[in-house]
Amino acid sequence: MQPKIAYFSAEFGLSESLPIYSGGLGVLAGDHVKAANDLELPLVGVGVLYRRGYFQQRILEDGSQDAQYPPMNPEELPVQAVLDGHGHPLFVEVPLGNRLIYLRVWQANAGNVPIYLMDADNDRNSDQDRRLTDRLYGGDQETRIAHEVILGIGGVRVLRAIGFEPDVWHMNEGHVAFLALERIREYSAQGVSFETALEAVKASTVFTTHTPVPAGHDQFSFELMDRYLGDYFWQLGADRAKILGLGRHNDKFNMTRLAFQTASKVNGVSKLHAEVTKELFHKWCPDIPPQDIPVEAVTNGVHTETWLSPELSELYNQHLAYNWPRAVADPQTWVKVEEIPDDKLWGAHQSAKQRMTERLSLPNLQNVLTIGFARRFATYKRAYLLFQDLDRLERIVNHPDHPVAFVFAGKAHPADHPGQELIRRIVEVSKMEGFQGKVFLVENYDMNIGRHLVQGVDVWLNTPVKPMEASGTSGIKAALNGVPNCSVLDGWWDEGYNGENGWAIEGKTEGGRGYQDWVDGETLYRVLETEIAPLYYRRGEGGVPHDWVTVMKNSIRTITPEFSTARMVGEYWSRAYAPVAERGRRFAANNLEVAQRVGAYKQFVRTSWDSVYIQDIKLSPHEDGTRVQACIRLGRIWHADVRVEAVGSDGHGGIWKQELRPVTENAGGKYLFECDYPNRIEVWRKANANIRVVPISPDFCNDFELELTSWGTNWR
Ligand SMILES: *Cc1c(COP(=O)(O)O)cnc(C)c1O
Repeated sequence: MQPKIAYFSAEFGLSESLPIYSGGLGVLAGDHVKAANDLELPLVGVGVLYRRGYFQQRILEDGSQDAQYPPMNPEELPVQAVLDGHGHPLFVEVPLGNRLIYLRVWQANAGNVPIYLMDADNDRNSDQDRRLTDRLYGGDQETRIAHEVILGIGGVRVLRAIGFEPDVWHMNEGHVAFLALERIREYSAQGVSFETALEAVKASTVFTTHTPVPAGHDQFSFELMDRYLGDYFWQLGADRAKILGLGRHNDKFNMTRLAFQTASKVNGVSKLHAEVTKELFHKWCPDIPPQDIPVEAVTNGVHTETWLSPELSELYNQHLAYNWPRAVADPQTWVKVEEIPDDKLWGAHQSAKQRMTERLSLPNLQNVLTIGFARRFATYKRAYLLFQDLDRLERIVNHPDHPVAFVFAGKAHPADHPGQELIRRIVEVSKMEGFQGKVFLVENYDMNIGRHLVQGVDVWLNTPVKPMEASGTSGIKAALNGVPNCSVLDGWWDEGYNGENGWAIEGKTEGGRGYQDWVDGETLYRVLETEIAPLYYRRGEGGVPHDWVTVMKNSIRTITPEFSTARMVGEYWSRAYAPVAERGRRFAANNLEVAQRVGAYKQFVRTSWDSVYIQDIKLSPHEDGTRVQACIRLGRIWHADVRVEAVGSDGHGGIWKQELRPVTENAGGKYLFECDYPNRIEVWRKANANIRVVPISPDFCNDFELELTSWGTNWR
């Protein structure tokens, strides 16, 4: 039987007509469920129907942002009410402090994939509680924790009420991680111990993290946790300390920590982001080197058909295999892009560009190199980078042969004042003498405006502070429309750039923000002046820029398959959903036999680990290398239940490992372990090598699941 998947997310960007998304995270979730539909996966989405959604943006004359949250009537949204067995509207309830909140359930659809959305605006709730789910990311910490209780706890209850039995629970970002607590509570209500329940839940949960900076991770004070969930803790079969321990970090309850501890597969959203995440999570368990922190990478993609222009879609119909929409992830599908005549691809792009300028009320830009920059105006995305040297920028936009125009769009969260300052600055520059008709700001960025922009501009620009852009996806939407990227080598672009499909700004990672801005800004100006603009304006017969079209084709051919949600969801399937479903079933079988065994075994190891101790490490020359011997006390733990290994630096930011085998056992659980290291002692010392003991089990999802290791004394 195909495993069933529940995909929980605080936002879903399905279409502009259902504004329950704020940016990349939500649009990714929308594209994920659309791809699941294409692949006919038995997946359902779970989220919140924010009755006033994310805000509508107007930019006032002085550049300030006006944010309005107009109420939405579900009758006018692409959702329908979910009914219970008696044909009445379905409600679920969640505990919130000393009261219950009643949530009505709605359903949106991505083809055959349902997305269940909860909302508190109904007459079973107090007037105040009815407003709880008004705004996405609105309000204070209290609203935030309420949303997350609704998402996590309410979401599980919705699936139970509907009768959908997931094999895999996918947490899209830590916001939804309370779902693990609710599942533990369910087991506890059936008389299952906390330890066993935790193992069963973990075995069947996948966690995708999206945020490379600690400040981006949700955390709640213990006081707030007590106030909102104090009466709920005891229902989980453990004491308060144990529950809070699941998310404890720096005396706060950290939702990312909770998700990490309750999932058996954890991934970041690009290769670079996975590495950054390892460094971040390493702070929770400093004894485990970042390289060993179990975080994988599943790089984001976009849903091709959602973002492709009708003009190019038509061309692809003519020149690619007839079934290309079903074979998006296959690189072979896109090789045929080379066969599209240059003038036809150029013509299709020019039509898309004209449509964009008309729809967005921009002047005619057909003969001007037009560069797009649109995304949330979060400061790390550095929309200001371009404005560092206004004299130079003025020369670029007004170049006699190579003029350039810039189109910006984006919302700044109403509480993000530096973000709103950026908008003001763009408006200010757009009104300066040298920039009129060259710098534009389109208001109320949403999926519709985004679609027009990624289809119609000539180049897509992104300038994040490396490595803060976990993935980014808007550039992928541009690339598949033949709009090459010019971006900092961060997130997906660090993997996608090949030297011929766009332009790269290396992205300084050291030296402080001012210095990084300066270096990256200089690179950006230079690339614009010396590479992008001259290439764009180098025309052949009929005004077709053949060399430019070559870059367009490279962009489409190399980026579209690899960075599609078809590839991405396929990868989630094979690397996460299928193995985790299998694991979850194994742990749950025979009345949770394996879950119980693993839970009990972990308790044994935890309580016995204090006595694990590396007493002595001896290095002696042996043939051409070194004999390494370690005297280790394991106490109550059996030697086959640990791995003893030498670990050293490879000199290039990585580590090497070599296992030691037990050679003698002495009384009191003392062992001699040994290996022959192939190099001399000086090399061992230079590699900062040390020996560690790690508890292992074939039932663990990875060797560091217990976050326990014991190192020799000369470590660090
Ligand atoms: C794709 C998309 C984003 C994400 O853009 P990034 O450049 O990846 O941050 C944000 N908002 C909307 C409306 C989008 O369509």
